[in-house]
Amino acid sequence: MKRLILFGAPGSGKGTMGDFIQRDFHLQKISTGDILRSAIQQDTADGRRARNFMESGSLVPDELVIELVRQRLSCGDLNGGYVLDGYPRTLNQAEALSGIASDSEKAFLIEVSETEAVERLLSRMTCSSCGAIYNLLTRPPRNSGVCDLCGGRVEKRNDDNAEAVRQRFRVYIELTMPVIEYYGRRNILARIDGSGAAAEVYERIKGLIA
Ligand code: ADP
Ligand code: ZN
Repeated sequence: MKRLILFGAPGSGKGTMGDFIQRDFHLQKISTGDILRSAIQQDTADGRRARNFMESGSLVPDELVIELVRQRLSCGDLNGGYVLDGYPRTLNQAEALSGIASDSEKAFLIEVSETEAVERLLSRMTCSSCGAIYNLLTRPPRNSGVCDLCGGRVEKRNDDNAEAVRQRFRVYIELTMPVIEYYGRRNILARIDGSGAAAEVYERIKGLIA
């Protein structure tokens, strides 16, 4: 099965690119952030465990996330393959993933300046039902507060505030950069210029997928 991995700082556009890829290719987007947010919304035991970590911008414990991904990947609905958004984020997670077979694997690092990323995060809005991503300044929903795709409520994520964003960047540098370096050493990492409009960034990625 084909596996794509999207890396990038918070606000780099991983989730948006994942949505585009899912739309155009036979690949299912799997976002650990979305899985965790839906667990919180449904107030499951996993959700209750994850909530404080997420609100503060810290990582949810490996063992919980690894298990959620393992379950998701065993669902059997991934015929063409899948694109991972937000996983793996630690070396432990990368190791767990490498234990799950795939016949082709490619990773993308979406690079943007921290200034641009923070700006995007602070004006970002997310559908609370389907996870679709909007931006108040550059990509607002057609009807204010209502998701174009599913009609769900579009709101600000509660970790898109200055303090949690700072912590997410710290975590990214400390724990996720080493994972990216590891994929770089395996020669399966492509670096993508992530600046500019979402459609432009996607044009830079698209041709590298098929
Ligand atoms: P972003 O990339 O913009 O920070 P995500 O939706 O990918 O947003 O992640 C939001 C939060 O969910 C993270 O700050 C973290 O608390 C939790 N999370 C998501 N994926 C993982 C993961 N692979 N490991 C641990 N925690 C995760
Ligand atoms: Zn929606």
